[in-house]
Amino acid sequence: MAPLRREYDVIVAGGGNAGLCAAIKSAEEGLRVLLVERGGPVDRGGNTKYTRDIRYAHDRADGYTTGPYTEEEFLRDLLSVTGGETDLDLARLVIERSHDIPGFMVKHGVRLQRAYRGALHLSRTNAFFLGGGRGLLNAYYRSAEELGVDILYNSSVEDLRISGDTFEEALISTPGGVVSIRGRAFIAASGGFEANIEWLKRYWGDAAENFIIRGSRYNDGKLLRILIERGAQETGDPRGMHAVAVDARSPRYDGGIVTRVDSIPFGIVVNIYGKRFYDEGEDLWPKRYAIWGRLIAEQPGQIAYSIFDSKVLGLFIPPAYPPIEAGSIGELGRKIGVDPLALERTISEYNSSVVCKRFDPGELDECSTRGLIPPKSHWALKIDSPPFYAYPLRPGITFTYLGVRVDRRGRVAMRGGGFYRNVFAAGEIMMGNILSRGYLGGLGLTIGSVFGWISGEGAAEV
Ligand SMILES: Cc1cc2nc3c(=O)[nH]c(=O)nc-3n(C[C@H](O)[C@H](O)[C@H](O)COP(=O)(O)OP(=O)(O)OC[C@H]3O[C@@H](n4cnc5c(N)ncnc54)[C@H](O)[C@@H]3O)c2cc1C
Repeated sequence: MAPLRREYDVIVAGGGNAGLCAAIKSAEEGLRVLLVERGGPVDRGGNTKYTRDIRYAHDRADGYTTGPYTEEEFLRDLLSVTGGETDLDLARLVIERSHDIPGFMVKHGVRLQRAYRGALHLSRTNAFFLGGGRGLLNAYYRSAEELGVDILYNSSVEDLRISGDTFEEALISTPGGVVSIRGRAFIAASGGFEANIEWLKRYWGDAAENFIIRGSRYNDGKLLRILIERGAQETGDPRGMHAVAVDARSPRYDGGIVTRVDSIPFGIVVNIYGKRFYDEGEDLWPKRYAIWGRLIAEQPGQIAYSIFDSKVLGLFIPPAYPPIEAGSIGELGRKIGVDPLALERTISEYNSSVVCKRFDPGELDECSTRGLIPPKSHWALKIDSPPFYAYPLRPGITFTYLGVRVDRRGRVAMRGGGFYRNVFAAGEIMMGNILSRGYLGGLGLTIGSVFGWISGEGAAEV
């Protein structure tokens, strides 16, 4: 990289999908851009490095998807997962501009996969990219460098000087020391605060000590906190988080996609007392997997166990860790530290309530429990074929919803009214404008891409 300037047209904080889209767009607009990324060249790219697919509106099958996904259908899906709690204007804007996503990705070197017919439930609505998130990041970083973006690795935006409604300077810690760099515009794209256990404790108490962070340890919300302290307006539920069930043996941070446990619909889930606490077969797994993190977070010790037998092995994607195996339910209870008698009782009650007319793992079938509380509404098979298995589960947080409010130009709103003249936000740090709860697979990258471009365009107008 050329020697660092004292002043740039735009400083972008965060080198994940949103920051890169913002940096690339700004550079295409002819701006001198500094991208500040907390990770190094190997672990750069925050949560983006764990992604695989992106959602966008398209009027016909385009080679990357198997059929049309209209703006109307996209909006309906969004309204259904958020229960209508979204900034409708911003949601429409994201959906409208999402048409341009494949074109932008391909132009900047991302290799989109040809659609898989029938293999994935997202194949009509989402495009998958080769090499996953790391492939996407490698392509975007290369493109940004070719466009002349200066990239500062292992560096973190530590503070901002804002006067009234105008950003002036960023304080950046770099491997060579702390530097202060002026900018005509500033784009915050530093993700959520999911890796900040102390912050999570404010809403979850000590339970947060038992949470596992699926993504980057760098997303600690430092910049989000600075913006809020400087007077930016918050949006999104502070307690809101997207959390799935992950294997309790996963690393505290950066386990990525392979730690998720998908066996839940095919057995039962018990807490540390050997008791069931929710309907494991409520709906199709893609619609329900994201409720389990929160359910487990509300259990004693924030731990639970997915229990199943040999009949269902092979029906779900196995996570990175092997299940705990035993020849009897009692032995399984002893191995996982759950009272064997309590576990035997729960399974015997469950088994005797199962009525199975037609088992089909691919759809809402006719296998359920009768008279059991809580019920299991589908895929209820008796757990009676040894060996028996268990996965220990913990809440695995994907991202938090709290962010800063923005307008159609990506400008950050001020608590006292109005918008900062030259402070923009893109990606997870503003996702709460559109997603206050619920989630649609592949939408994280959609919002980051569109607001990345919008922020870059906005920076050019400052
Ligand atoms: C396991 C997993 C799988 C996922 N799969 C998908 C998927 O397939 N499709 C999808 O759309 N979404 C997916 N998501 C969600 C998706 O990762 C996010 O929505 C998306 O990455 C957000 O992009 P972003 O640029 O806002 O944040 P990030 O990609 O997290 O980037 C934020 C960047 O900011 C940097 N940073 C943090 N603080 C500072 C600071 N103070 N100064 C400078 N830099 C800083 C970080 O190092 C990081 O590089 C997944 C998430 C996880 C955890």
